Amino acid sequence: MTKNIRKKRSPGNKLVIHKIKRRSNRSYCRICGISLRILTKSTKSRKRVDRPFGGEICHACLRTSIQSGNFE
Ligand SMILES: [Zn+2]
Repeated sequence: MTKNIRKKRSPGNKLVIHKIKRRSNRSYCRICGISLRILTKSTKSRKRVDRPFGGEICHACLRTSIQSGNFE
């Protein structure tokens, strides 16, 4: 586990702590937030499914939103 804290010297010669937000490689559904189970160690084309909104929305949310007509 790497540290999420970096010590930086500010212009006023103060030592300040920068907290670093690490973004995960995983992608999550925009609507329900479920993890899209796609391998993290793969090429970019394999990170998303070949379907409209693939890699952004899970299949269940896509189906319900198409049927309800959200993507007109
Ligand atoms: Zn979803």
